[in-house]
Amino acid sequence: MRNKQTSQKTTLCGIEVLLVRDHVKRMNLRVRPDGSVRLSIPYRCSRELAEQFFASRIDWVKAQQELARQTAQAQGTSLTPESIQSDKETLEDKLPEIFGRYETAMGVRCSRWRLRHMVSRWGSCNVKTGVITINTELARLPSVCLESVVVHELCHLRVSAHNAEFYALMDTYYPHWRRARQILNANPPRR
Ligand SMILES: [Zn+2]
Repeated sequence: MRNKQTSQKTTLCGIEVLLVRDHVKRMNLRVRPDGSVRLSIPYRCSRELAEQFFASRIDWVKAQQELARQTAQAQGTSLTPESIQSDKETLEDKLPEIFGRYETAMGVRCSRWRLRHMVSRWGSCNVKTGVITINTELARLPSVCLESVVVHELCHLRVSAHNAEFYALMDTYYPHWRRARQILNANPPRR
């Protein structure tokens, strides 16, 4: 006889979790876009084992919840000239340090960077003039996105095409770029 799926709300490591016993071979942990946590475990798995598994992934869970919170916040605000100005100021505070850090690491330097609200791209690099443009919408997303876009545009100062050499540079100087790309694709610039 097949067991029915059962679920219960419980608290693991201080976090509310929906614990689901299901026909699964191994434990599976998910953080939904609203920040809620779901852990599915095989029927015969003990609660202790589930708790151990959860504890080993607690940093990941907290990071995902923070990301969900920031993303929800970003989507909840409307686009106005004032909000764009406020995003500009946020980025003007952050970018000098980020550009400085990666320019030093990569041994490149842009001639200058500027901020602009754009609807179809996160950043751009004019390889002739060395001017890098960064989308003000990045102020609304986790900093992994901003850093990834900065490194992407700096890589263009070395390699203009999106070829294997380009992505090898990204892997070297910003290995988190794939995670950033997922977030960027899921949160397109507001119009
Ligand atoms: Zn590019």
